[in-house]
Amino acid sequence: GDLSAPMEGLLVSRYGEQADVLALKDHQKFRCYLRQNLGAPVPGDKVRFRLDPNQQGVVETIHERHSVLQRPSPHQGLKPVVANIDKVFVVIAPLPDFSALLLDRYLVAIRDAEIPVHIIANKWDLSEEFNNQQIEAQLQTYQQLGYPVTFVSTKNGKGIDELATIAKDISSVLVGQSGVGKSSIINRLFPSQHSKVDLVSSNSRLGQHTTTASQLFLFDSDELQHEGFIIDSPGIREFGLWHMDSHTVANGFVEFDPHIGGCKFRDCKHVNEPGCAIINAVKTGEISESRWLSYCKIIANEETNN
Ligand code: GDP
Ligand code: ZN
Repeated sequence: GDLSAPMEGLLVSRYGEQADVLALKDHQKFRCYLRQNLGAPVPGDKVRFRLDPNQQGVVETIHERHSVLQRPSPHQGLKPVVANIDKVFVVIAPLPDFSALLLDRYLVAIRDAEIPVHIIANKWDLSEEFNNQQIEAQLQTYQQLGYPVTFVSTKNGKGIDELATIAKDISSVLVGQSGVGKSSIINRLFPSQHSKVDLVSSNSRLGQHTTTASQLFLFDSDELQHEGFIIDSPGIREFGLWHMDSHTVANGFVEFDPHIGGCKFRDCKHVNEPGCAIINAVKTGEISESRWLSYCKIIANEETNN
């Protein structure tokens, strides 16, 4: 049969050789096949597609990506997981225990992808017993480095409007340890959409509730071409926890930049070498000791793993 005129769409979720695509003009969702030799589209990709008379789509073109988050894949090197993300929200909380090391790993991986970061400190309804003030003091280091921090609570609504304002015109993802409240934040931001965007294939026959497909949550907007959205993708839950080479790790610490050329040895690892400009900057207080300790732990971990 004849195909429709080409339409522009946003790829929401991939199912093997098929994908769900949201038409930009009216947000209608179509199940599409992927044209042969198309390449491997991922959630967030802008695509061109056509419909056959049965409303079955064919994706014909993947448009150029402005950003991509990748993860290692066995035998395939790095594999894109999500595309065209404008901002990564790293969610932290006092419970499970806040880990500066984990936060630093996320920041390193995101810096490698050259995507702006925003830290969300969730569960700020929890009081002193959870060391919030101590964590706030630790977060000041990050704010001084230029990482914005927003304190929120999905329990009492604190900071949620502020977050919505930041996220509503852009495409973003949430990363962070399990239990910090990523799903709760999405439920708060999109109270009516959780059932509407029912793209979770929950494999109920196996009795599992693991999300195997990506979900895309759209902010309401009159200008359908310009709205923002959040992609919740299972593929980025462990983002930042996989292997990173020592160059990527050193590059991931933004405050190392002005010092990194000043080490005595060109192959300096900035751990215990004489004449290391990074270590000197830690001694003078220009670089926070806790950040440098994170760096050393990440490097040590990577080296024992390889
Ligand atoms: P995810 O694994 O990151 O998606 O985390 P969830 O959204 O499933 O939340 C994990 C737990 O934290 C749940 O029991 C939530 O009820 C709880 N939680 C989420 N947000 C808050 C909050 O702002 N305050 C408090 N006290 N608990 C929260
Ligand atoms: Zn050095």
